[in-house]
Amino acid sequence: METKDVLIIGGGITGLASAWWLARSGLSVEVWEAGERPGGKIMSTRQDGYLTERAASMVLNFRPEVVELVREAGLESAKTARLPAAEAQRYLLHKNCLKALPMRMGAMMASPLWSLRGKLRLLAEPFIFSGGRPDETVSEFITRRLGREVLEKAIEPFIAGTLAADPDVTSAAAALPRLTALEQRYGSLAAGVVANRILRRRTACTTDTFSFRNGMATLVECLANTPGVTVRTGYTACELAREQGGWQAAAATAQGRQTQFARHLIVATPAPVAANLLAQVDDELAELLRGIRYAAVAVVHAGLARDAVKHPLDGTGFLAPRGESAILTGNLWMSTLFPDRAPPGKILLTSYLGGVRAPQVADWDDGRLAEETLGTLRPLLGLKGDPEMLRIDRHREALPVYHGAYQARMQAIAARLERIAGLHLEANYRGGVSVRDRLARGHAVANRILEAQQWPTAERQRSAVPEPTGRMAARPGLSV
Ligand SMILES: Cc1cc2nc3c(=O)[nH]c(=O)nc-3n(C[C@H](O)[C@H](O)[C@H](O)COP(=O)(O)OP(=O)(O)OC[C@H]3O[C@@H](n4cnc5c(N)ncnc54)[C@H](O)[C@@H]3O)c2cc1C
Repeated sequence: METKDVLIIGGGITGLASAWWLARSGLSVEVWEAGERPGGKIMSTRQDGYLTERAASMVLNFRPEVVELVREAGLESAKTARLPAAEAQRYLLHKNCLKALPMRMGAMMASPLWSLRGKLRLLAEPFIFSGGRPDETVSEFITRRLGREVLEKAIEPFIAGTLAADPDVTSAAAALPRLTALEQRYGSLAAGVVANRILRRRTACTTDTFSFRNGMATLVECLANTPGVTVRTGYTACELAREQGGWQAAAATAQGRQTQFARHLIVATPAPVAANLLAQVDDELAELLRGIRYAAVAVVHAGLARDAVKHPLDGTGFLAPRGESAILTGNLWMSTLFPDRAPPGKILLTSYLGGVRAPQVADWDDGRLAEETLGTLRPLLGLKGDPEMLRIDRHREALPVYHGAYQARMQAIAARLERIAGLHLEANYRGGVSVRDRLARGHAVANRILEAQQWPTAERQRSAVPEPTGRMAARPGLSV
C-alpha cells in the first residue's frame, strides 16, 4: 500500500483545511471521515426555498491566511457579503424588550442601557493597572478591566451566545485571546484598540464577514475536492499505532477493516474521540483530552412571510443575557444578514438554545424546542401565526467549553505532543472554535509538518503534485 505523507482523522473544517494547506505544498494527504459526508458540524440545507446552516453560518475574518485560502481555492466569486457593518445594529434582550446595543463609545455614553456608574467605570479602563492571574476567568478579567455592567450586558451574552459557555468559569486567555493580549502588550484595552487600528491601517488587514451564496457547504466541498487530497467517508478510525517512520492507522468501514501508513498523523476529531484513539499511545495525553467538556446546542430555524413579523428586523439579531432568558442564547436575523437566505418576501430567523446555561435542551423533543423558541420570539418580534418553514438541528457536543485552567491543559497537551514524533492534534478545542481560527490553524499545522520534514517543497511540487486545474487551481508553495 502506498505510504501517505499525512493521514488526517476527521473531515470537519479543521481536517479539510489542514489537508488543503498540505496538498498545496505537494504532500500526499488522505482524510478519514466517519460520517457519510465531509464537513463535520458544518452543513447547509435548502428547504422550501430557505437556506439554513446546521453550525457555522458565516466567517468573521481578519486573518491573512484565510484571505489567501479563499482567494487561492478560487472561492472569492462564490462569497456573499454580510449586511455592511455600519448597518449591522445588534440588539440585546433587556427587561423583556429588545434594546439597540451601542457599538461605539459615543453611542454607548448616550445609551439608556448603561447606568451612569457603568459608563464612568468603562471610561476608567485606561487607568486600571494591568495584571490579573494567568488563569483568570472571563468574568474576573472583564469586571477588573471594564466593570460588572459590561460583563452582564455585553460579554456574558456574547460568551453564552457564540461559545455556549459560562464566563464565570471560562478561561479569559483561551476565550478572549485578543483582548487579554491587548492588556499584556499595551497595559490597557483602550490603548491596545487605538494601537491596533493604526497598525491595521499600515498592514491593510481589514475585517470581512462573509458566507457563500450556496452556504458554508461551498467551502467544505471546495476543500474536500482539493487535488492531491483523498477524502474517504464512512471511515471510522478505530486504532492508531506508532511504527518506524510514521503511523499505522486502522478504520472500520462498510467494506471491513482498512489500514493506512502515513509519515504524519493529524487527529482532527472532537477531544473525546481523540482521547479514545490515543489511549494506547499516551495515556496521560488521553486523560488531558478526556477532561475537555462540551456543551449541547439546538438550532431552530423559522421561515415566515415578511408581513407576519412586526419588528423591522433592522440588524443582525439579538443576544439574551443570563438574567433574561434561560433558554435562548441568541437569535440571528439571517435574511437581514444575507438576503438570499430566504425567498423574496420571506424572512429567516435562526435561534440558538442551550449551551452550559441550559443543558436540559439536549433532551427536548422537536415540539418542545419549537414551542419554547416561538414562545420567546412571539412577543419580542411580534410574530403572527406559525412559521411556514421550521427546521431543527441538534448538536449533543456542539462546542468545547474553555472552562477552568484551560491554558494550562493546552500547554500540557502541547508538552506531551512534543515527545511524540509525527502526531498532531488539531480541532476546535485548540486555538479557537471559529471557522476563521480553524482555517488558520490548518495553515499552522501544515507549516509544522513541513518544517519537521524539512521538505524540499519546490522539488516535490515539480514531481509529485497533480497539476491543479480550473477553479481549484492552487498556487505552489506554502507561505510561512
Ligand atoms: C450551532 C453552531 C453555530 C456555529 N456558528 C459559527 C459561526 O457562525 N461562525 C464560525 O466561525 N463558527 C461557528 N461555529 C463553530 C464551528 O462551526 C465549529 O467550531 C467547527 O465547524 C468545528 O470544526 P472541527 O473540524 O474542529 O470539528 P467537527 O466539525 O466536529 O469535525 C470533526 C470530524 O471528525 C469526525 N470524526 C469523529 N470521530 C471520528 C473517527 N473515529 N474517525 C474518523 N472521523 C471521525 C466527525 O464525524 C467530524 O466530521 C458554530 C458551531 C455551532 C455548533
